[in-house]
Amino acid sequence: MLIEIGLLLITHLLLPTIFLSWLWRGEAKSKLDWLLNILVDTLYTIYIFFSGRWDWLSYYLRFILIILFFIAVLRSYKKVRHLPFYPIKKYQSLFSLGVNCFIIIIFANLSFLILQGFSFHNKPVEFAFPLKDGTYYVAHGGNSSIINYHNTDRAQQYALDLVKLNSFGTRANGLYPTELTKYAIFQDTVYSPCTGKVINAVNSFPDLIPPETDRQHPAGNYVLIACDRVEILVAHLMSGTIVVNQGEFVSVNQPIAQVGNSGNTTEPHLHIHARQENSGETILDGIGIPMTFSGRFLLRNSLVY
Ligand SMILES: [Zn+2]
Repeated sequence: MLIEIGLLLITHLLLPTIFLSWLWRGEAKSKLDWLLNILVDTLYTIYIFFSGRWDWLSYYLRFILIILFFIAVLRSYKKVRHLPFYPIKKYQSLFSLGVNCFIIIIFANLSFLILQGFSFHNKPVEFAFPLKDGTYYVAHGGNSSIINYHNTDRAQQYALDLVKLNSFGTRANGLYPTELTKYAIFQDTVYSPCTGKVINAVNSFPDLIPPETDRQHPAGNYVLIACDRVEILVAHLMSGTIVVNQGEFVSVNQPIAQVGNSGNTTEPHLHIHARQENSGETILDGIGIPMTFSGRFLLRNSLVY
């Protein structure tokens, strides 16, 4: 987890600071140099704005980044507006041009992958959002592996991992606390996303202390519900909180459990995905289908109130 936290700090704080300081210092040799710097900074800002896990530092920080970007652009323009368009020192500028073009190609590709995440191929199914007691943040969601780590798995292609934000816009009190109660979502009530019949309910696995995981039982405690020609799974539920049984009929918005930290999970969150009925032998097999909530297809950094 130390590596993940290190990467998070580099990509969300260090790199934006470096890119913004290039603009802020206004050391471009020509307007062309300046435009390339702007393009690099714009592409990186788009990439990290949409693909960043802002719930770790603060959801609001992503908007501060945008504001700082515009201030830096305005400030740097004042410094370059009297410079010639083309470079004066040819060789120095060619090197700078090459570096900028390389970075532009990388981040243009990454931005394209994020754009793909907004699309879905099959007809989506509408569900009721399963959490109702606060502001919820989509940690993983969308149709691209750059914003949804489940996306490479056929059954979980459109799966969502949900956390809750506290008043500071972070998912936990601390960067990666070991106390489960420091995570805002822990013990929140989970409501049935549809009216249907419980296919299976498992309630026997313990809640783990981060970063412990149980790879033998990926879903941990879960409820699998058959709705109208689809099956929907809610997973990583809190031990002993599931109040529905196999074969029972449930109504949409009926409380069914609480959010926990059981199974293959690094911290408390709610996992949810839908699949075509009878398309998988185990709970994690099948053909995933896109879900909408109040007509919205949710992606990383979406908020639901
Ligand atoms: Zn998940």
